[in-house]
Amino acid sequence: MRGVATLVGLSALALAAWPGFNRVEAAPAMAIDADVRDEFRSQMIMPLALGGDNGRRMAATTAVIPLASAPERPRLDLVATLTQGDSFDRMLRRAGVSEIEASQIAGMIGNAIDISDIKSGTQVDITLGRRLVAGEPRPLDALSFRARFDLQLAVERRDGQLLLDPRPIMVDATPLRIRGTVGGSLYRSARAAGAPASSVQQFLRVIGTELSLDREISSKDEFDLIVDYKRAATGEIEVGDLLYAAIVRNGEPRKRLMRWGPEGRYFEASGVGEQREGLMRPVPGAISSRYGMRRHPILGYRRMHGGLDFRAGHGTPIYAATDGRVDYAGRNGSYGNYVRINHAGNLGTGYAHMSRIAVRRGENVRRGQVIGYVGSTGLSTGPHLHYEMYRGGQKIDPASVRFVTRAQLTGKELADFRAQLDLLQLVEPGAALASLAPDPDAVEEPVREIDRLENRQQVR
Ligand SMILES: [Zn+2]
Repeated sequence: MRGVATLVGLSALALAAWPGFNRVEAAPAMAIDADVRDEFRSQMIMPLALGGDNGRRMAATTAVIPLASAPERPRLDLVATLTQGDSFDRMLRRAGVSEIEASQIAGMIGNAIDISDIKSGTQVDITLGRRLVAGEPRPLDALSFRARFDLQLAVERRDGQLLLDPRPIMVDATPLRIRGTVGGSLYRSARAAGAPASSVQQFLRVIGTELSLDREISSKDEFDLIVDYKRAATGEIEVGDLLYAAIVRNGEPRKRLMRWGPEGRYFEASGVGEQREGLMRPVPGAISSRYGMRRHPILGYRRMHGGLDFRAGHGTPIYAATDGRVDYAGRNGSYGNYVRINHAGNLGTGYAHMSRIAVRRGENVRRGQVIGYVGSTGLSTGPHLHYEMYRGGQKIDPASVRFVTRAQLTGKELADFRAQLDLLQLVEPGAALASLAPDPDAVEEPVREIDRLENRQQVR
């Protein structure tokens, strides 16, 4: 009974202490009405997020007198860019120069240089002056740009007249020669010696056609490369083509190649042209049928398949497998549109079922030149290239031939080639990397307005 009494007693105590579940209200720290709330809101970022609906600003009062016209900047400095396919006067008009003045300036510049020499992407600094009449375009006060690698052109208004002011930039055209030991990596060694990346890549590609870069060049060999290189007094550098590439072993040149001729091919020191190995694939597609006996898909009986079939989509360009002269171009029975090319060494190649032919009979073609497009003309079930090869007019298996064409310089051309090669050997390694001696006649005047301001700050 005592236990029951304890239970009842404790239960009663617990029920007596039962808490209420009413809301507990905290008194506000200060009274906030709509005005005060707005005041707070104006301090927050939120009004900005809502589009500045509560940004505070003052409305105009009667004390505000509107201006008849707002004052303009007296001059405007702009940078305009000559884009691809752009004309000079169109660019000026875009920048706000009047039509008459734009064509006048374009004419002045056209008289000084060939406008088409100006590279697209050239930036032109333009200063426009104060408008003479409200609403009219601003007159051009000055204009300055790099017209060529060796020429800065400026147009300035002096006493109301536009004057052209060409400022030649000194350019040093000493070719850049880099020599060094191959070491662990020819690429890294040449780069460390100061060769531009594009030139090293070209060097590796050219040398790679004659020597195996993995097996025939050792780490103790020396590389020697000469690049067409131009340095302007203003600090810009123009890297041209690789002129000379050599690998030297024990002080003796192991392989020497020099760029020669308008096509920019590389020739060995003996006058033998670069090795152009093997045949080029006429189309990028996979081979779907090889040379040999097979069942013809249309005729239905077994017969000789005299070439290779390349799977390729309609309209895929077809490339000449190697240099040659077009012997036939036109429709040819079951071949459809067909081109045959004669190559050196009594070899020939044929390309059938073309949708379109891109060469004419008698035309000289180069390796890799587009001669037509894949189609399904003639006796064909779908777009593909039927590719044949002939030796002395007889069909042979194209897969069995890897031919090599090499040009050989002779006579006067060989003598000129040797003279040029000797001349290149006189180039001092690394000479073109030295800093350009300042031209005593050059006036130290900055071209861009921002540089002028900086210079002024430095002086005063
Ligand atoms: Zn075929």
